[in-house]
Amino acid sequence: MSSTSSATSPARSSSNPPAGAKKVRTRIAPSPTGDPHMGTAYIALFNMVYAHSQGGEFLVRIEDTDQARSTPESEATILDALRWLNIEWTEGPDVGGPHGPYRQSERQDIYRGYADQLVSQGDAFPCFCSNERLDEMRATQRAEGKTTRYDGLCQSIAPAEAAKQIAAGDAHVIRLVVPVDGTFSFEDALRGTIEIPWQQVDMQILLKSDGMPTYHLAVVVDDHLMEISHVMRGEEWINSVPKHARLYDALGWEMPIHAHLPLLRNPDSSKLSKRKNPTSVTYYRDMGYLPEAVANYLGRMGWSMPDEREIFSLPEMQDAFSLERISLGGPVFDIDKLNWLNGEYLRALSEDEFAERAIAWFTQGNRLRALVPLIHQRTNRFADIAPQVDYLVGDRADLTADDFDHKRVASDQARQILDHALRSFDESRGWERDGIFAICTTLAEGLELKLKDFLGPLFVAIGGKAVTLPLFDSMALLGADVTRMRLRSALEALGGVSKKETKRFEKSWRALIARSEAEIVTVDKEDSGS
Ligand code: GLU
Repeated sequence: MSSTSSATSPARSSSNPPAGAKKVRTRIAPSPTGDPHMGTAYIALFNMVYAHSQGGEFLVRIEDTDQARSTPESEATILDALRWLNIEWTEGPDVGGPHGPYRQSERQDIYRGYADQLVSQGDAFPCFCSNERLDEMRATQRAEGKTTRYDGLCQSIAPAEAAKQIAAGDAHVIRLVVPVDGTFSFEDALRGTIEIPWQQVDMQILLKSDGMPTYHLAVVVDDHLMEISHVMRGEEWINSVPKHARLYDALGWEMPIHAHLPLLRNPDSSKLSKRKNPTSVTYYRDMGYLPEAVANYLGRMGWSMPDEREIFSLPEMQDAFSLERISLGGPVFDIDKLNWLNGEYLRALSEDEFAERAIAWFTQGNRLRALVPLIHQRTNRFADIAPQVDYLVGDRADLTADDFDHKRVASDQARQILDHALRSFDESRGWERDGIFAICTTLAEGLELKLKDFLGPLFVAIGGKAVTLPLFDSMALLGADVTRMRLRSALEALGGVSKKETKRFEKSWRALIARSEAEIVTVDKEDSGS
């Protein structure tokens, strides 16, 4: 076993590959566990543009090995979002292709075969350790100031003995053998040589006890079988490369070229997060951004045209693309800048095009139809519709602190309500009316407020006025991203939250959630009679 990867030389050239060179094939591999993230769209765009600039191919693979968190709805919204941005793929779960299936949950047997091969070669081993033992081991390592890492206990079980335990049905996972010392190094096509001591690399679980592969096994097997030549992904995956390289080595496969793109950042340079920015592509579609403007903006994240021009189309980007022009300083995703760029695109349309695009936006999907249950019984004339739904179809009015004045809660309390609602909405996975209602009642009870008083500041934050259509339905229709964005801007209108207050709010929110969870457990126990 070598402690360095086979040195593949990175291609840092925009010229076409020499005749006979391997075809460039790239992929985006989203996990369908939530909204379509802007970061996914950005990585997908760079992968597509790079592949096409080299006469290559780009594909979509769905990484749904986390069965508890993956949903078909999330997969569908991710594919829709990519399509909306004019990102095109020639192979994927929706279009098929010669290297399918393109959903990892449908490839289980393939991974198991390779896991067995790795075990028989001595490159992986079955591990029977219980969670309790692993917790204890990690606690001890932490107390000793060491990196937490599997200690290799089950590695010394003789294969015949392990086989006996497996035959007896003992729960086990398969772990990767990694070198205990030395340094791993590889060439990143954007970052040059990267070195990581093996000491920092864990004996990664490859196959879980339910037989599902982990990301690490599946990604290597699939990238190889799908003939991916360039793995271009976010920089958060750099530390996984040693494990992947170990697998390529053990399976006797050539490792693709790796290029780790810089992560998108909030304007305060923290990692782009829904806490600070709308991150879902759906938000931008629903707020009336043009897909070509959003794609143009994403193309400027860490990359620039040779002539530094700010406005360009995807085909123009493709013609001028080279990896050398990617800069590694964290690209800042700035909504104000995007608003400006989108405005440029809108103003460049002819009036007819503008009309056509605006009407398409007003009527997109089921948007207007979905409002009908809310307004039907409240409408005398169709002319009454627009004022009722203004904040649902468009943005709400800008707020000032005075807008919250007549509410029964004081400004400090209003800030706490908005802050706590934001925290709970950030954590919530689903987004439908009943779930939002449940969150609000829990918070109101926790803060010892009548639901009506608790909701006061939320009415203003969402609708910009004291009286709106029903609040929970409004939030459900607006979607999680728009809702969060409005709560954040309402908090700003109320003077923002100081660092000290943030700490206080976080503590009180955590305590409140812990109390309500404890109550749920007690109720469950009573229900089950234990
Ligand atoms: N499924 C991983 C993700 O959601 C993909 C990482 C990779 O591209 O290797 O980011």
